[in-house]
Amino acid sequence: MRFHRIQLPSTGEILFAREDSSDARLLLPLAQPPWLGVQLLDRPKLDPTKVRFLSPVSPSKIVCIGRNYSEHAKELGHEVPTSPHVFMKPISAILDPGGTIVRPTHMSSLVHHEGELVVVIGKKLKSVSAADALAGVFGYTAGNDVTARDLQREDKHFTRAKGFDTFCPIGPVLVSADEIGDPQALSIEVRVGDQVRQRGSTADMVFSVAQILSYISEIMSLVPGDAVFTGTPAGVGPLQAGDEVSVAIAKIGELVNRVVDRPKSVAR
Ligand code: ZN
Repeated sequence: MRFHRIQLPSTGEILFAREDSSDARLLLPLAQPPWLGVQLLDRPKLDPTKVRFLSPVSPSKIVCIGRNYSEHAKELGHEVPTSPHVFMKPISAILDPGGTIVRPTHMSSLVHHEGELVVVIGKKLKSVSAADALAGVFGYTAGNDVTARDLQREDKHFTRAKGFDTFCPIGPVLVSADEIGDPQALSIEVRVGDQVRQRGSTADMVFSVAQILSYISEIMSLVPGDAVFTGTPAGVGPLQAGDEVSVAIAKIGELVNRVVDRPKSVAR
């Protein structure tokens, strides 16, 4: 099943919806987030051209894995890690599909795209084995771990480089785990305009989705709705104002965002 989080322009109401399996162009409103149980509301189907699509998750936290594809670790001059490299992005960085990435030109002059498979948690995971971890996955979506590469090199930790508002596009759709099947068999392609920048497969992850979730669950509980970014393939590169960046993942679809520079004066 394929799920969206949408906003109705007329009332501002935010709700989850499922694509109608008989007519994918129509959306069936849900009573609650789908990971709590798919419960249809007794309301008319919605026309997707008449709603605003939001990030399909609204997590309590975003946990990310760095350097999880060996070719990407090498392109940045790093060793391939021997255990998952865990960091977090703030939830304030989340950007809707179709939203605009703002380059923080007051601090950074080198902003990179990182297209990634994103896991959405369905059941609480605390100290689970890799063998049990996938049972806690609700589904998958696409994400862009936008990174100020110059600040990442300058700072010891990643918080500033990866934490700016708009640096976490997620979407456009949340696809249930049963429909994805093996999460280690998905192609990922990132394009900027007409140019293919990243082309990889989740088969090339250093640590599998199951291993990542098990490792994180030994540190912190993952709760339903949480998002886990699983690392990016080789080919990361700069984003400029005016660019359109897309992250396309097999069986999920394409997350598209535009890029602008931060205005010279910003309202506080
Ligand atoms: Zn990343």
